[in-house]
Amino acid sequence: MNTIPRLHFAHLPTPIEELPRLSDHLGGPRILVKRDDQTGLAFGGNKTRKLEFLVAEAQEQGARTLISGGALQSNHCRQTAAAAAKYGFDCILVLNGEMPDKPSANLLLDQLFGAEVVTIADRNERDRVLQETFDKVVADGRKPYLVPYGGSSPTGALGYVFAMEELMKQWTDFRNLDHIVFGTSSGGTHAGLVLGQRVFGFKGKVLGISIDESEEWLKGRVSKLATEASERLGERIQFESAEVLANADYCKAGYGVLTEAEREAVNLFAKYEGLLLDPVYTGRAAAGMIDLIRKGYFKKDETILFWHTGGGTALFAEKYANRI
Ligand SMILES: *Cc1c(COP(=O)(O)O)cnc(C)c1O
Repeated sequence: MNTIPRLHFAHLPTPIEELPRLSDHLGGPRILVKRDDQTGLAFGGNKTRKLEFLVAEAQEQGARTLISGGALQSNHCRQTAAAAAKYGFDCILVLNGEMPDKPSANLLLDQLFGAEVVTIADRNERDRVLQETFDKVVADGRKPYLVPYGGSSPTGALGYVFAMEELMKQWTDFRNLDHIVFGTSSGGTHAGLVLGQRVFGFKGKVLGISIDESEEWLKGRVSKLATEASERLGERIQFESAEVLANADYCKAGYGVLTEAEREAVNLFAKYEGLLLDPVYTGRAAAGMIDLIRKGYFKKDETILFWHTGGGTALFAEKYANRI
């Protein structure tokens, strides 16, 4: 496992904290939070762990330019742009959305890190424009490395395999950790945790709350990514869709659409714990967790670890700033 190329820039291990006041308020189980919003790179977040492996792979391939894509307020793209700056790559981001007069939050930071931003109106055009961008960089003789959406390739997922190992070293009282809950979208975080669960023998459940994809798609995607990532570790482990726990009950409003549920979650975490969530990912994941607590899915005597995946910078995006 130690022969896989990896850079070390994340601030690890990230802390685990108790959320007793939130737990009291909900009359629910013990709630812990794993602070991956504090991974250190450009306001942190879950993409940092993936980028340690992805940027190492790009370096190994002799790439000079990192190319990636996402939504206008993509946390993944903000972190990719920061990593590119740190390791001396050019960076081109293909973002769907309209370039505002005054870029804010993640988009502002992309520019600060020196990334070239290409905006496209239609999300369905993203794959094509990414490919064109890639081909153009090749033609210009600056070898590109395509960082997949959300950093979710088998290589990127390795970040969360080792995150599971980190958690298990940190938290030795495993009889008492029943559920890990987090937001899942492009599946890399989820796949890494599922594979890490198997490799390091975590006994609790690993439940991804979908941000924008169907349960069926996520289960297929996560099992495939976890299987492929296991090959990187030297031994293929076949994962089946049915082994993956995903809940897509909380994403019906669509990606990045703020509803009362996310608003309540962001406000409860802020008011009871002084902890910031984001409107798109952790707000939605926490809203799912809160609803499942209220429905009795998590029992009072159980312990939940909410894996905070970052994203708080989006609170300052004009789209959300006055609406949360
Ligand atoms: C990207 C992201 C996620 C989702 O992670 P995936 O590995 O893409 O499923 C969750 N939370 C935040 C804040 C993110 O930026």
